[in-house]
Amino acid sequence: MYTIGLDLGGTKIAAALVDESGTVMKATEIPTEAVEGPDAVIRRMEYLARELANHVPSRELQGVGVAAPGPLNVRTGIVYGPPNLPGWDAIPLQAELQDRLGLPTILDNDGNAAALAEMELGAGVGVRDMIYITISTGIGGGVVLDGQIRRGSSGSAAEIGHQVIDVNGPVCPCGNRGCLETLASGTAIRKVARERIGQDMDARAVAQLAVEGNLIAKGLLDEVYGYLGVGLVNVVQMFDPTVIVIGGGVAQIGKPLFDRLQFAVDTNSFRSPSLPSVKVLPAKLGTRAGVIGAALLPRSRFASMMAGTR
Ligand SMILES: [Zn+2]
Repeated sequence: MYTIGLDLGGTKIAAALVDESGTVMKATEIPTEAVEGPDAVIRRMEYLARELANHVPSRELQGVGVAAPGPLNVRTGIVYGPPNLPGWDAIPLQAELQDRLGLPTILDNDGNAAALAEMELGAGVGVRDMIYITISTGIGGGVVLDGQIRRGSSGSAAEIGHQVIDVNGPVCPCGNRGCLETLASGTAIRKVARERIGQDMDARAVAQLAVEGNLIAKGLLDEVYGYLGVGLVNVVQMFDPTVIVIGGGVAQIGKPLFDRLQFAVDTNSFRSPSLPSVKVLPAKLGTRAGVIGAALLPRSRFASMMAGTR
C-alpha cells in the first residue's frame, strides 16, 4: 500500500509517493506561485498528486496527507490565512483536495507533519517525548508527548516561532513584537546580515564568514544563538522532553549552532543536574521531513481519530 504526501510551502509545493515502510518511491516539487491565489495553488497540488498516483494501481493507494502552514484547523481541514499564502482566508483545503482526488485526505500543520516523520523514521525513533523545531524561512515545530503529537484545542499548538523573546523587538507578521521567528529565522538572519555586512547572504554563508574570522558575522550569530537558546530553554521548561530535534536550512550551520544550543539547555533549564541532559539533535530527514510526514498522516493514529469525527 502507498500514500501520497503534499507539503505546501510559501515558495514550493513538494510531493512524494511513499510506501508502507516510509520509503520515498517518487518525489517531485514545483513552485507554489502563491501570488496566483488559492484556486491556482490547489490545482497545482491536485496535479502533483495525480502525477504520483499514476505510478501505482489505484487500489493500492491508501490516501493523501497534506502539510500546510498554520493557522489551520486540523478537524475541519480549513486553512486560515498563513502570512506567506496571500488570499487564503478560510480555505477548505482538505475537502477541496479530497473531492478532486477521490481519496481520503488528511490535513495537518507542517511542523506537526515534520515532527511525525522525525519521530517515526528520523532522529526521534524510540523517543516518547520529543520537540521538533524547524528553523528556515520561519520557525515552526511539533510537540510529541507520550509518543503522540499534541495539537491543542484547535491544532495551533507548537507555534514555537511565535513565542515572544523580546517584547520591544521587531514586528512579526502575526502582529506581536519580538517573536523568536523575527529574531532568529533564516529570514531574520538574512535581513540583519544585509544591514550589518551589506550583502545578501543566507545563514550558512554568514556562518562561513564567522568561521573565516569575520567579527560582524560572529557577533550576529552570537545574538541569534542567544535568542534560540532562550527559545529552547522555554520549550524545555514547558514540555520536559528527552530530545529536541532541529531541522530546516539554518540547522545546516551544524556544530557551532548545536554546541551553543546544547550549552544553553544544559546551563539554563530548570532541571536537576542529576538528570540526563535534554539532547539537542539535528533532524535526520532534512528538508524532506515535511513531505514524508504528510505521507505518513493517512496511516497515523490521528487519521483514524479524524475519521471518527467526520
Ligand atoms: Zn509572531
